[in-house]
Amino acid sequence: MPRYSITTFGCQMNVHDSERMHDVLRRAGYTEAGGPEEADVLVLNTCSVREKAEQKLRSEVGRLARWKRERADRVLVVAGCVAQQEGERLLKQMRAIDVVVGPDNIPELPGLLGDLSLGGLPIARTVFDLDAPRFLVASPSPSPASRVAPTAFVTVMKGCDERCSFCIVPYTRGPERYRPSDDIVAEIAALVAAGTREVTLLGQTVNSYSDPLGALPRAPGASADDPDESAFAALLRRIAADVPGLARLRYTSPHPRHLTPSLVLAHAELAVLPRHVHMPVQSGSDRVLRRMIRRYTRAEYVARTRALVEAVPGLTLSTDIIVGFPGETEDDFAATLSLVREVGFKGLFGFKYSRRPHTPALKLPDDVSEDVKGERLARLFEESEALLAAHLSGLVGTTQEVLVEGRDKERGHGGVGGALWSGRTGRHEIAHIEGAGELDLLGEVVEVSIARANKHSLQAELTEAARAAVRPRQRGGVEPGRPARRSLPVVAAEGG
Ligand code: SAM
Repeated sequence: MPRYSITTFGCQMNVHDSERMHDVLRRAGYTEAGGPEEADVLVLNTCSVREKAEQKLRSEVGRLARWKRERADRVLVVAGCVAQQEGERLLKQMRAIDVVVGPDNIPELPGLLGDLSLGGLPIARTVFDLDAPRFLVASPSPSPASRVAPTAFVTVMKGCDERCSFCIVPYTRGPERYRPSDDIVAEIAALVAAGTREVTLLGQTVNSYSDPLGALPRAPGASADDPDESAFAALLRRIAADVPGLARLRYTSPHPRHLTPSLVLAHAELAVLPRHVHMPVQSGSDRVLRRMIRRYTRAEYVARTRALVEAVPGLTLSTDIIVGFPGETEDDFAATLSLVREVGFKGLFGFKYSRRPHTPALKLPDDVSEDVKGERLARLFEESEALLAAHLSGLVGTTQEVLVEGRDKERGHGGVGGALWSGRTGRHEIAHIEGAGELDLLGEVVEVSIARANKHSLQAELTEAARAAVRPRQRGGVEPGRPARRSLPVVAAEGG
C-alpha cells in the first residue's frame, strides 16, 4: 500500500484541510507513513498569507529535490493557498512537483495520484467549486478502540467577500460559500457522540455566515434595519440547542463588521460560548483602517467589543495586528498601541506588512522600512506581553474550569517526564495541571485552582472536588494524553 505524509504550514483552515486530506487518502487505500522520509507521496499544504510563508514552501521544495531523486516513483504534491495562487506556474518553476491541488479540489487528490501512477503528466487542479460547494467532513474516529481528540474544527463557510486591501485570501479561497446548518449540526452531533468536547467553527469571515437553505429563524436581538445580520447568532443558538452534550463552542476568525447585536446577545445567553473571542482589528488608526478597507472605524470596533464585554463580564479579547502597512506613520502606530491598551487585549498575533500578489494594496508603495516594521512589532509585543502578564498574575489563587486537551508538551514547568496534563480555561488561557499524572483527564472539564502564572500560561492544581470526581488512569489501552486521532505535523503555525 502506498504511504503518504502531510506537512502543514499556516492557519487552522490549513490544519483542518490537512485532516481532510488524511481522510481522503486513507479512504483511497493509502496508509500514513512514519514521516516524510518513509513516504511514497508527500503533501506540502501551504500558506501564502505573508511572503515569508510562501518562501518557506519554495525552500522546502528545493530541499526535497534530493528526496525525489532517491526513488523515481516518489510523488510530491503541493496543496493549499500557494497551490491555488500559482497553479500551473508551480509545475513550470519547480520540476520536483508532480501535483498541484487547490483547497476545493482535495476530493480529487486520489484520482490525480492514480492518473500519475499510470504515466500521466504532472498536473495542476485549482478550480473553485462555485456551483456546488463541497464541505468535506473529517471522520471523528479512525477505529472503535481509539479515543477521539477532545477538540475539533468544523467548517461553516469558506472563501471571503471582504476586500481588505492587504489580504490574498479572497484570491486563494474564492468567494464566500456557506454550508447548510443541518449539515453543520449533524457533524457536530457526530463528533460529540464520539467524545469530542469542544468544537471550533471555522470560516475566513466566520460570522458573516448565512444559511444557504434559509432554515434558521431570526435570532433574538437582531437589529431591525438589517434582518440578515443574525444568521451566525442563529446558528450558534441552534447548535447549543440541538447538541446539548457539547461543552464549548468557539469560532474563528470573525470580522468586527459582523459583531452584531444578535451575536452579542447570543454570547450573553449561551453558556456553551466560552468567555473569549479573537477579533482581528489590524490597526488602531482610522486613516490606516480606511486604507486597509476594513470598513469599520476605531470607535466602532471599541463600541462593539465593549458591548460584548459588558454583556459577558470577564470576557477577554485577543486580536491580529499588522504593523508597517503602506503609509503608516509613527502617529498611526501610536494609535494602534493606545487601542491595545484601551481594549486590553489578552493575546495578540502581530505581523509585519507583507506585499502579496493580486491585492489592492500593491498599488501603494511599501514605504515603511523593514527596520521600522521590526521595531514597531517589538514595541507592540512589549505592550501585549505586559497586559498578558498582569492578566495571568491576577488569576493566581482563583478557581477555573479547564478542558484537558492532552499531556503537557512543555516540559520543565515542574512536571516529571511529561506527567502534567494541559488544557485551556474557558477564556482560552493555557493551564498546566500539576500532580495529576495518575489520573485520566483527557477530555474532562475539571476544576483547578491557579497556583502560579508563567509568561504565557498558568500553572494549576486540581481542586479536591475535581480529584474525587475523575477516574484513575487505566493500564493498557490507549495512553491517556495521546489521542489516537493522528496529530498532524504542523510547521510554522502563525496564528490567525
Ligand atoms: N479573515 C481574518 C480577518 O481578516 O479578519 C484573518 C485571516 S488571515 C489568514 C490572518 C492574519 O494574517 C490577518 O488577520 C492579518 O493580521 C494577517 N495578514 C493577512 N495578510 C497580511 C499581509 N499581507 N501582511 C501581513 N499580515 C497579513
